[in-house]
Amino acid sequence: MLSYEDARLKVIEVTAGLRRIPAREKLQLQNSAGRILAQEIIADRDYPPFDRATRDGFAVRAADCREAGAKLRAIGEIRAGGEFAKAVCAGECVQIMTGAAVPRGADAVVMIEHTRSGAQQNEVTIESAAEPGTNIVPRGSESRAGDVLLRAKTRIGYAEIAIAGQVGRTELDVYRKPRVAIVSTGDEIVAVDAQPGPFEIRNSNSVSLAAQVELAGAEAVLLGNAPDRVDELRKMIERGLQEDALVLSGGVSMGKYDLVEEVLRGLGAEFFFDALAIRPGRPAVFGICRGKPVFGLPGNPVSTMVTFELLAVPAVDILSGGDARPLPLLKAKLSKGVEQKAALTHFLPALVEWPSGQTIVTELPWQGSGDIAALARGNCFLVVHQSKLKLAAGEWVDVLPRRGLL
Ligand code: AMP
Ligand code: MG
Repeated sequence: MLSYEDARLKVIEVTAGLRRIPAREKLQLQNSAGRILAQEIIADRDYPPFDRATRDGFAVRAADCREAGAKLRAIGEIRAGGEFAKAVCAGECVQIMTGAAVPRGADAVVMIEHTRSGAQQNEVTIESAAEPGTNIVPRGSESRAGDVLLRAKTRIGYAEIAIAGQVGRTELDVYRKPRVAIVSTGDEIVAVDAQPGPFEIRNSNSVSLAAQVELAGAEAVLLGNAPDRVDELRKMIERGLQEDALVLSGGVSMGKYDLVEEVLRGLGAEFFFDALAIRPGRPAVFGICRGKPVFGLPGNPVSTMVTFELLAVPAVDILSGGDARPLPLLKAKLSKGVEQKAALTHFLPALVEWPSGQTIVTELPWQGSGDIAALARGNCFLVVHQSKLKLAAGEWVDVLPRRGLL
């Protein structure tokens, strides 16, 4: 059976192979976090634009301060943003603030903490030796005018926003979010705002999938629930295929009324896998139907969530115009031993905590993949790999954070 790592690689290869280039839009710079940049960002001038002092102190000539104890004459001060017309000559210094331009003649900045006012007026004793370049970031050393600071297809985070702001951009060209259709299936499923009959359950998967779609950076298009009947399911799937990708929950197991694969096949889908060596989530299906990636995720809520994270997120990344992000696994120390029997990779509800600075993970008791209550008592999945099913207390283990929580 396919490992989840190979399944992800398959999803990435197939989705990238579609070569979809998303439409673009302009966004206010501060609203563009999480998007993919559709243009280059170029340095408008050298950075820093001048030799910048990185400490409050005195700008000196290093040649005057080869040894500690030099006595220099202060000839003025330079504030951040200010100009200083004169040059610093031998035996002179200038008081300077962090972020100010180092004046001509000076080639080092001595921290204020390493200086002392002398006996005479304007006399400053430099209590440490200074090397040329100390506490100065030279002009153009971060980037040069015309340099590409951000390439197209970069994922925009706060540092990218800062860079674009630094070079004067107030708007960015970004790719539009892909639209991901969500269809749940099952005769027993009723809407969240409905009163379920004694053997019915509310549609929690559609709302959790919508949240996962949005957290992954796409737009969720909620189409509701399809009963387990071929004709109605087909209608819903055809509607879903009008969007950039389709995610279904339920109806992919071995039951008599698990019809998702059959209906997709009838619509001409090509499947790349329909089983993974994971628990929960084993019967997950991935295919292309009418040119769109389609995920048939098992309906048990925790299975739906795990398989979306493992499989659908990389496809969303690519449809967003960027590269697939790696699975964001953390390392944590296991508080109590864990053992799994089935030769599968397990994703178990767990809680990461930081008592006294250590990252500790604890498996939570649960009733299996329908138990959302257990999952909601934690903040992550403990990953027990197929290659090592027995983990001892104190071992460093893999943890898959629940997106947005850790
Ligand atoms: P299935 O994958 O269709 O066999 O469903 C597996 C389990 O998940 C069953 O117990 C279903 O009732 C439950 N389930 C399926 N779809 C949903 C849904 N949309 N919301 C909550 N639970 C669901
Ligand atoms: Mg079902």
